[in-house]
Amino acid sequence: RKLGVALVGLGGYSSGQLAPALQQTQLCRLTGIVTGTPEKAQKWKQQYNIPDKNIYNYQNFDSIKDNPDIDIVYVVLPNALHAEFVERAARAGKHVICEKPMATSVEDCRRMIEACKKAGKKLSIGYRLHFDPYNLAAMRIGQNQQYGPVKKLIGENGFTMGNNRPWRIQKKLSGGGPLMDMGIYCVQGVIYTKGQLPVSVTAKYPPKQRPQQFNEVEEAINWQFQFADGSVADCRTSYVENVGRLRMEAANGWLELQPAYAYNGLKGETSKGPLPNMPARDVSQQALQMDDFADCILNNKPTRVPGEMGLRDVQLLKAIYQAADSGQKVSTKDVVAVLDKV
Ligand code: NAD
Repeated sequence: RKLGVALVGLGGYSSGQLAPALQQTQLCRLTGIVTGTPEKAQKWKQQYNIPDKNIYNYQNFDSIKDNPDIDIVYVVLPNALHAEFVERAARAGKHVICEKPMATSVEDCRRMIEACKKAGKKLSIGYRLHFDPYNLAAMRIGQNQQYGPVKKLIGENGFTMGNNRPWRIQKKLSGGGPLMDMGIYCVQGVIYTKGQLPVSVTAKYPPKQRPQQFNEVEEAINWQFQFADGSVADCRTSYVENVGRLRMEAANGWLELQPAYAYNGLKGETSKGPLPNMPARDVSQQALQMDDFADCILNNKPTRVPGEMGLRDVQLLKAIYQAADSGQKVSTKDVVAVLDKV
């Protein structure tokens, strides 16, 4: 039997990526939805053949505990709502996938981990790039020092936001600007390529180009992670420009992914030529990610992208903000020590 997945929040990512990916998965499938909008429920019911008994709203969501068709609850809501729904899903006895960033506070992350632990259920974060062949190659080459020790990393991720006010720039719902949304991929990318956690961070906000629109959150932020061996990662993220790059410079060569964090069309170059052994066609990162989690549940294995990694990253995001707000170097030595070792 394929494990049943219920998507909570039927916005852009659920409708554009996760639901289509769940048509390709081998070990799990879309069996339920949780939405506050009855019209969306009707549309999804028809499109994905979802029975009425597997359709919930945010109020009656807790009764999902009695539904054997749902094994995994996947929380795809604005960042500040992740904590509540992960905890409610755990209390309902379901395994949980939570979108990135895990939450808007470290305390929320800890409570979410605790809730899943107490319920004896698995928790993973929607870090799809840990299942992408290009990013996996960067991990392997970087972590195994195939080009020698990694001396420098560059991470850049952003997109040009129009002149609207989505929840992404409302602090209460997002917890912050592009750092929470896009910069988190750079945090992840430089760490899984280096295979180590940084020991400190410095950061700076560039001047805002649209201060009225970005009056609650940053429009852009630049930061540098320092590693124990003296190597550094220079990163930037913004809602100003379309960019997505991950670069590694090692003693005997370099590697660069661009676009590095997209759903498809990724490209990889190295100082020795194109990244070898990449698939001829795009893979569905989300299908691989969800099947891996289903496999972890079915075979009782730990996930490579656990709640603790989500907590680690929220700790690092907070340290970056602290460094930018204070203008001081901030130690990151106390973040949870979890790494995806290939
Ligand atoms: P979206 O704005 O398209 O959808 C958000 C959904 O939440 C909407 O359906 C909306 O109706 C619902 N919602 C419920 N309560 C709400 C409230 N109080 N305010 C606003 N909306 C509310 O957003 P999205 O792009 O689908 O992002 C959802 C989550 O998924 C975010 O945490 C985001 O970071 C994450 N995400 C991850 C990826 C990835 O590649 N892993 C990509 C996109 C988004």
